[in-house]
Amino acid sequence: MRYYIWTVGCQMNVADSERIGRALQDRGLSEAPSAEQADVIVLNTCSVRQAAEDKAYGKVGSLRPLKLARPDLILAFGGCMVAEDTLPMLRRRLPYVDVFFPPSEPQALLDLVDQRMSERDPTIDTPSSDGCLAPTVTAASGAIVSPHRPFPVARWLPVMTGCNRRCTYCIVPFRRGREVSRPIPELVAEARRLVAEGAREVTLLGQIVDRYGRDLRPERRDLADLLEALSEIDGLVRIRFLTSHPRDFTDRILDAVARLPKVCEHINIPVQAGDDAILKAMWRGYTVDVYRRIVARIRERIPSCSIATDIIVGFPGETEEQFQRTLDLIEEIRFDVVHVAMYSPRPGTLAGDQMPDDVPRAVKKERLHRVEALQERISLEINQALIGTEQEILVEDEEHGKWKGRTRTNKLVFFSDPRNWLGKLAVVRIDRASPWSLQGTVVGGEEPGPARPRWQPLPVLNLARV
Ligand code: SF4
Repeated sequence: MRYYIWTVGCQMNVADSERIGRALQDRGLSEAPSAEQADVIVLNTCSVRQAAEDKAYGKVGSLRPLKLARPDLILAFGGCMVAEDTLPMLRRRLPYVDVFFPPSEPQALLDLVDQRMSERDPTIDTPSSDGCLAPTVTAASGAIVSPHRPFPVARWLPVMTGCNRRCTYCIVPFRRGREVSRPIPELVAEARRLVAEGAREVTLLGQIVDRYGRDLRPERRDLADLLEALSEIDGLVRIRFLTSHPRDFTDRILDAVARLPKVCEHINIPVQAGDDAILKAMWRGYTVDVYRRIVARIRERIPSCSIATDIIVGFPGETEEQFQRTLDLIEEIRFDVVHVAMYSPRPGTLAGDQMPDDVPRAVKKERLHRVEALQERISLEINQALIGTEQEILVEDEEHGKWKGRTRTNKLVFFSDPRNWLGKLAVVRIDRASPWSLQGTVVGGEEPGPARPRWQPLPVLNLARV
């Protein structure tokens, strides 16, 4: 049997899809190059924006004729669009879908695959219902799944699901539920498995990753404990984490970043707006001044740390004056990266249901472009200051004949060299800079291989952009 996974949404969904792919491979399935050639089609959806939902409806609709022509095909629809309150509507709207599963919980899909496999061949001993979502089962055994497949050097590692906060614009807590952390031994085992598959860097994922471990019993642990445990893994050279929250980013976490050599100096800490009244309406739980003090603390402790943020423009009621404060904050803090999005109301959220979406779309778009233009200039200035410096790059891929990797501060760097640098740490002297990336010349690093690899991108992910 063969499978095909289509993914839309955030890094958490990407990581979920990777894990579903591994669980299917554990069952002996291989990946199909297209949905038409698959026996199991998995759509991993996102509900953060209406555009993402529309894309998923478009995709599943396009697969309907295939499913009707091949009733034995398993068509699965999962991810953030699937929740207790949406399930009855989805079942009515998509009667040809075989199985729905909530985000990070594909057990219903795996059970159905197991059932079909034993119907086809009753002698097949299918895995226990734990599947890949109890990774200690496979990882503790030291098994390497699908060693024939090339795996990326830098991998995602979801360390918790859910979110206990209630930002008024956000659907995530309603779809992904309350916070649930995975125990440290389980995560260490999974990271070891990723390293055995070729990974040298992991990025720990959580909606608010700083809150990792608060729900663990009997012993409460935190992100600093987890970073410390993962740092012990041989072969793992870099550890990152995202996303932080200004209310939860503690001194213990900052100290771990400063102290542990494998933990990279890069913090993604969304501010969302530069105006206190808007932050209050968003229920973010901090003021602009509190945010400023956190950034000052980070920079005092780790001067080289890069800081990325997220900003929403056009939140209900946002005036030009309030938006200007956001621009002022960007200018003042000088973030390395700003991810900016236009507000779009999500039904089921407080803002979506009770706050009029009163900033016209054209104004939202114009504000978005003003943030992008300002940040482009700042990023260029920050990147230009790196010209002439030597940076350590973990080489992740090859693109248009150049090696591509990231600095410890998460800046994208390209360089040319005939030798095989894939997966190696290279020291690169920076020659040129743009707002988005750096170009340089390799001047040292680990011993590269002699030839270029036959490198394939990880085929399990068929990412749609929203
Ligand atoms: S912190 Fe706020 S924006 Fe982030 S996932 Fe939780 S509710 Fe959503």
